Amino acid sequence: MQCDRNKRQIRAMARGEIIGSLKIREHARNCLRCQAEMSRERRMQRELQALRSDVPVPGGLLNRILDAVDTLDRRPAVARRRRSKLAGTCVVVVALLIGIGSRSGRRRAVQAS
Ligand SMILES: [Zn+2]
Repeated sequence: MQCDRNKRQIRAMARGEIIGSLKIREHARNCLRCQAEMSRERRMQRELQALRSDVPVPGGLLNRILDAVDTLDRRPAVARRRRSKLAGTCVVVVALLIGIGSRSGRRRAVQAS
């Protein structure tokens, strides 16, 4: 069973979008690589959800980031390692920017009251 070939399905399963085929579910139960992939995806979703409920994000920015990450993932497997690291860095940078923005917003709100 090729883990890389199942990655998209594994991730969709982690997001709860699909149940996944029996074959893949059984594989994921015994495969540490796929389990790691699922927990990585779940953690990412949790973080994005936390961001989404924490701060108002302008113009579907997060969706655009997610699209970009998806596009990067579709590139050939050779470059995937480097690119997914790059995509991760982008998400972190944007998260920091949003965090800084919301913090100064909150400070302004405190001063106003
Ligand atoms: Zn696997």
